[in-house]
Amino acid sequence: MGFPVTRLRRLRQSEQIRSLVRETHLSPNSFVYPMFVCPGEGVRKEVRSMPGVCNLSVDQAVKEAEEAHGLGVRSVILFGLPEAKDEVATGAWATDGIVQQAARAIKREIPELILMGDVCLCEYMSHGHCGVVRSRTPQSLGAAVANPPAVGTEYEIVNDASLELLARTSVSLARAGIDVIAPSDMMDGRVGAIRKGLDSAGFLNTPILSYAAKFASGFYGPFREAADSAPQFGDRRSYQMDGANVREAMREIELDIEEGADMIMVKPAMPYLDVIAAARERFDLPLAAYQVSGEYAMIEAAAQNNWIDRERVMMESLLSIRRAGASIILTYYAKEAARLLA
Ligand SMILES: [Zn+2]
Repeated sequence: MGFPVTRLRRLRQSEQIRSLVRETHLSPNSFVYPMFVCPGEGVRKEVRSMPGVCNLSVDQAVKEAEEAHGLGVRSVILFGLPEAKDEVATGAWATDGIVQQAARAIKREIPELILMGDVCLCEYMSHGHCGVVRSRTPQSLGAAVANPPAVGTEYEIVNDASLELLARTSVSLARAGIDVIAPSDMMDGRVGAIRKGLDSAGFLNTPILSYAAKFASGFYGPFREAADSAPQFGDRRSYQMDGANVREAMREIELDIEEGADMIMVKPAMPYLDVIAAARERFDLPLAAYQVSGEYAMIEAAAQNNWIDRERVMMESLLSIRRAGASIILTYYAKEAARLLA
């Protein structure tokens, strides 16, 4: 039945009718708030390219988590800026690592808040890569660790040696009180290695949210300042996905599910809404999407120039991710969006 019998504007004539027929809804329940924890006390250092986002010392991270929780956000994800970095990412898996300290402190104050722990090595490696780096010239792994390759030399991110460190990191985080393990490194086989590590340490009930389809993206730029994790040489294209590939993304997700992922993630969100939609169509696991630093920074920069309506664009961007099919949204806007939804 076409016009004039059908008039779609009938259902748009008031906010009451529009909200009656609205197909997609946002809720603070589905937000995960990312936080960057750094050493010190009383530290709230704003990230230059992410206005409103700070590096927080443990005491401030507790306050921030309390505020988010008070606004209805049920979950935060922790990233760490360690005191020191090395070639085996000690800060990632040490019992007194910065995220481990923050996890214990937050758990003590807000036990019901779901604590997610990002599992990667880049923030803790002096070279800034997400795995163990070895020079291409043949040598033992020990020698490679002792003599990391200089800028411009041939190097390789060693997959299987990295798995052991990722599993060790996951167990250490679970011991510190992290509720959900979220590996973001993109090494092959890491979900299986982490599941095995968690199970043999007794953490049978700790779920894994895998960054299953994580693309090598220019949209991570501001995060690297926030987490001080830019690679010192080369880039991440040998492990993160090529932005052109949606079928390969489905294979990545499928493998992670086979290895035991409980929830899956697509990252970044807005430039990859089609990947989110395809994953929603194909898989039945809870699906998360990460609205990354560059997506946030673009909205903030345009709003500072009064080129866009900040709140409106913020909510529209989150709604688009939800509509594409993500049921969980990691976003720096978690607190503010929760406030607007209240
Ligand atoms: Zn990484």
